[in-house]
Amino acid sequence: MKKRRISANYVFTVKHEEPLKNGIVELDENGTILRVLDNPSNLELASTEFYNGVLVPGFVNAHSHLELSHLKNKLSKHTGLTGFIDELMAVRNNFSVSEKYEAQKKAIVDMFRAGIVAVGDISNGIDSLAIKRLDTSGLFFHNFIEVLGFNNSDAEFVMKKAIQLQQIFSEISSSSIVPHATYSVSYKLMKLIANWSKKNKGIISIHNQETLSEDSLIRNKSGELALFLSQRKNNLNDLIKAESSVDLIQKEIISHQKLLMVHNTFSSLTEISSLQKDNVYLVFCPNANLFIENTLPKIDEFANQFQNICLGTDSLASNGDLSILSEMKTIIEFFPKIQFNQMLKWATLNGARALNICDKYGSIEKGKSPSISLIQYFDFKNQTISAKSKIKRIV
Ligand SMILES: [Zn+2]
Repeated sequence: MKKRRISANYVFTVKHEEPLKNGIVELDENGTILRVLDNPSNLELASTEFYNGVLVPGFVNAHSHLELSHLKNKLSKHTGLTGFIDELMAVRNNFSVSEKYEAQKKAIVDMFRAGIVAVGDISNGIDSLAIKRLDTSGLFFHNFIEVLGFNNSDAEFVMKKAIQLQQIFSEISSSSIVPHATYSVSYKLMKLIANWSKKNKGIISIHNQETLSEDSLIRNKSGELALFLSQRKNNLNDLIKAESSVDLIQKEIISHQKLLMVHNTFSSLTEISSLQKDNVYLVFCPNANLFIENTLPKIDEFANQFQNICLGTDSLASNGDLSILSEMKTIIEFFPKIQFNQMLKWATLNGARALNICDKYGSIEKGKSPSISLIQYFDFKNQTISAKSKIKRIV
């Protein structure tokens, strides 16, 4: 069996608290890690590929919408969520099947090159099915079959279609049925999704507090989002009433299943802390938040208080690229006190845990095959990335 040994100035395994200086990772020909050597001897170093920079495990992109890849550079920035939804609906279907397919294909290649190994990917329909079937990059997809429906009367029909879609996707990869958001799913549909999830141990993902007026809609059907939705003939009477989006999640959705709360742009730490449980994950997608709302979640506050944080890119409709390194650069730019080591865990192991794939992905340790990337132009003095940092896939 052919072995490979790789090393760099530092190896950030994520398993260890501190990076391993000149650490060596020994792998078999399939990329499975055989040994991780701390403090290697000069003899061991002699037969090793050495890279300038730091080695990190493959990234997990915990939130994306591959099916929107054809909308890159098609929508305006800073229009707020309502403006974004309006533009998205207007242009989403003005593209041919092959244009959509080619855009998704390119997005997968770009994610692969950006060191991403696994994706929690929202699928509203079958648009991304063909590429996921044919893709040979090895990228792992967990497909979140996302449903929305404002009327109790449609709930069973919507759920039936979601189950059909989930069965199709589950032939290729793991998948689960999830609600779009607290403000777009009727009481009855939410119950059906929650029951399905309990029965099938499905991972749940939900967009949470992405815009400010989400809470006032949930509380008393007032505010910008409520007005926007009712002007577009959506019935708001069948939505679940609660004090806030988080309150609704607490009462109706949270269970023993994994739950990924995505965005949390306008969430308060006190409120979210009430949800802190082993199975609850916060997913931040800072670049998309800046694109749509020009606002960021209080990531620095959550960093100190909330254990399970993951990172996502959202879609190319609201992001220039699907790169977890770019998301980390944005975080460092706005929250320079956040440690790289901590953020790296969000970008790798936490996402792998959230998607139930940490037996293979998320950290550099014996027995896993997480893929390994090199971050070049690393700021060694401050042990963090800089705006100039680049990523290159090594394994
Ligand atoms: Zn999203």
